[in-house]
Amino acid sequence: MIQPGSPIGVVGGGQLGRMFTLRARAMGYRVVVLEPDPRSPAGAVADRQIEAAYDDPAALAELAESCLAVTTEFENVPAGVLAFLGERVVTRPGAAAVAIAQDRIAEKERMRRAGLATAEFRPVRSPSAARSAFAELASQPAILKTSRLGYDGKGQALVTTPEECAVAFESLGGVECILEERLRLEAEVSVVLARSEDGSVAAFPAGENHHRFGILETTVVPARIPDTLATECRAAAEAIAGALDYVGVLGVELFIAAGGRVFVNEIAPRPHNSGHYTLDACATDQFEQQVRTLCGLPLGDPRLFTPVAMVNLLGDLWARGEPKWDRALAVPGVRIHLYGKSEARPGRKMGHLTCTADTPDRALALVLEAREAASTP
Ligand code: ADP
Ligand code: MG
Repeated sequence: MIQPGSPIGVVGGGQLGRMFTLRARAMGYRVVVLEPDPRSPAGAVADRQIEAAYDDPAALAELAESCLAVTTEFENVPAGVLAFLGERVVTRPGAAAVAIAQDRIAEKERMRRAGLATAEFRPVRSPSAARSAFAELASQPAILKTSRLGYDGKGQALVTTPEECAVAFESLGGVECILEERLRLEAEVSVVLARSEDGSVAAFPAGENHHRFGILETTVVPARIPDTLATECRAAAEAIAGALDYVGVLGVELFIAAGGRVFVNEIAPRPHNSGHYTLDACATDQFEQQVRTLCGLPLGDPRLFTPVAMVNLLGDLWARGEPKWDRALAVPGVRIHLYGKSEARPGRKMGHLTCTADTPDRALALVLEAREAASTP
């Protein structure tokens, strides 16, 4: 067990690292951030920042020496970096689980092996494979995704013919891809959970996600789906965490397709954007669970106290200057979280609002009202 008061580290300086750092420091830990950007969201609130690239061996060695445990805040930390750290210091999540989450093909194959339903898929590594994969899928159109490094809907193309699929493969750079049947979605849901070394799991309730232009826009909790489906989503998330022998916080994205069929989409080996509501509505939040699993402390109570909704604040909201936060915060139940990013680019996640209320519908209506109020000139 790593006592509060000890030094712990995080690879990456984004908003997830910031919220982790704030929570860890509130619990008494000292936090070291490895991040090249001198003005990063996490670096600004850390005890110390090592300003270097994520794969700089000297910096990694320094991080391992100065901390008793290290975690990450984004999934594209090279798995080799985690392996390097894992040889020197407690490192969670481990390199093996992260390597799977970084590769959509390996990820979907692993889910299938764990007995979970996924969209039908084929690996695509050449234009001719793109054509044949398209022809093989039972339902069309289909979605071609780069197997690695995609996020927020980037690196994806909807394709309707074998030829289009081959062209899309080339325009995605000729890199390894996965072709997936396009499901007709009734809802998108995520389950964030924490799993400790002894295999115990604390899952947060399923959240209902809505995306805009490929980016998560809102999460509503509890998800407005039948209880049986929410239970099924949670069971699927726990199954994948168990299959990976995962230790840490895991975000699991699921699809609910026509007829109420549940499919696992992808996993994120870290706290998840759709779990930010836990900061304001749960007995323990996802970042505290990250600290607890990292340090070998008992899992916290994931209980939800109240319906809640979250809306992401993208850089677009700054188009006419600083939003009117006083107006947003006048809406009852609303709280603001800003990540300390100096430059507001379109599509960039600058912060989020949450709102608690008596019902999920009301929470969603109020949080959208708050965002709207902030952006009105
Ligand atoms: P990212 O890593 O960019 O989040 P996802 O695989 O989650 O990639 O895809 C982004 C979004 O695209 C999903 O949230 C969903 O709305 C849609 N999508 C992805 N795969 C499928 C699919 N097989 N069928 C239907 N919609 C999909
Ligand atoms: Mg996704």
